[in-house]
Amino acid sequence: MYIYKVGVVGAGTMGAQIAELVSYAGVPVLVADRQDTLARQGVAAVRRIYQARVDKGKMTPEQLEEKMLLVSASTDLNALKEVDLVIEAVPEDLSLKQQVLRELDRICPRSAILASNTSALSISALGAGTGRPSKVIGLHFFNPAYAMPLVEVIPGLATDPQTVDDVVGFAESLRKTPVIVKECAGFLVNRLLSPYLNEAVWCLQDSALSIKAIDQDMVSFGMPVGPFALLDTVGLDIALEVSRILHRSYGPRMAPAPLLEVLVKAGRTGIKAGHGWYEYGSADEGGGDQRLEDLVAQVRLDSGGHRREWTRARPLLAMVNEAVIALQEGVASARDIDLAIVAGTGFPNEKGGPLHLADQLGVDQVLRQLEELTESVGLRFWPAPMLRRMVAAGFTGQLAGRGFFQY
Ligand code: NAD
Repeated sequence: MYIYKVGVVGAGTMGAQIAELVSYAGVPVLVADRQDTLARQGVAAVRRIYQARVDKGKMTPEQLEEKMLLVSASTDLNALKEVDLVIEAVPEDLSLKQQVLRELDRICPRSAILASNTSALSISALGAGTGRPSKVIGLHFFNPAYAMPLVEVIPGLATDPQTVDDVVGFAESLRKTPVIVKECAGFLVNRLLSPYLNEAVWCLQDSALSIKAIDQDMVSFGMPVGPFALLDTVGLDIALEVSRILHRSYGPRMAPAPLLEVLVKAGRTGIKAGHGWYEYGSADEGGGDQRLEDLVAQVRLDSGGHRREWTRARPLLAMVNEAVIALQEGVASARDIDLAIVAGTGFPNEKGGPLHLADQLGVDQVLRQLEELTESVGLRFWPAPMLRRMVAAGFTGQLAGRGFFQY
């Protein structure tokens, strides 16, 4: 199905970025929000994204105006009665999204696809509230959408394969990299990124290394930024909420690190609060703030004062193990899991993603290290059963010529 016109509901952070992508691809887009000022602010945000391109010499002011002609705003969802696809980007609240989708179901043509940019809600539950669950799908863009290549495409239980094909084609027309993800908590990227970030916090709790030193070590591995700097950008409160959702769904291995909860309680939610793991907007951006030191010291004391050597294997293997569990569950193929993590998190391209990394390290070595960490650190490192099957069958990675991939 060719998509001639798109609606975006919710003109906030993501809605505006999505509208920019759609108009950039030459497709008319109507942005709807609750109030006129909010809808107009969304359109102004689209203009700012284009203006930044003009400032860098990547487009002309005339091209900017041409693109802006494709963007319109409304406060009335009835204006969406002729669109082929609507992407809702209203706040992350199930009943609000269900209400918006019900209304869209009433207004939009029967053939229209209703997509949700939800980060965590069930697509099946969203679809079930409409009269067209076969045309409801997750279309998860990452922030900032103009820079992040990945889009997770998440069919619900009732989503039609044709809807999946149409949305994949549409994402490609936006020059994005769509990856189809079987519905599960956290989808793919957040499900794998959260245990990595959480483990970095556990490490800080029980090693003597500083925040800055851990960040630097992960950057020297090839990550674009360290885990603590990333948590500050994402917002510690958002990361904690994701962690709690994953904990409820997957159980103890995803339990949020106590230190993360302590920082959120202390209001240190990251860049937006002026401080998180680092200080912002002051001379002290090195994480050396005394109040933070005290919080870390208290949590270390409360948790028994364990002292372990820092090893980057802990956050990395937490991610690798979750990747293998997701592969076992058929959430995505090995290729797509690695593609999503490289495109969605900045995992170093030359390492290929967590499953390629396991093949490089040796699947037998990964299994051995996970067993050791299970003994020394805790049951959250319990190895994915697939690893044992692979080792027993000689699928031990690059050296053996076969592992998660063929060599
Ligand atoms: P936001 O708060 O910036 O924007 C939400 C917008 O929706 C607001 O402008 C609000 O006025 C509008 N809105 C609320 N109720 C409405 C209604 N009934 N009809 C029309 N508009 C309505 O939120 P956001 O950060 O852009 O997040 C939107 C969605 O995208 C959420 O589901 C979130 O989980 C997801 N998401 C966010 C990010 C991110 O980094 N912000 C990344 C990926 C996905």
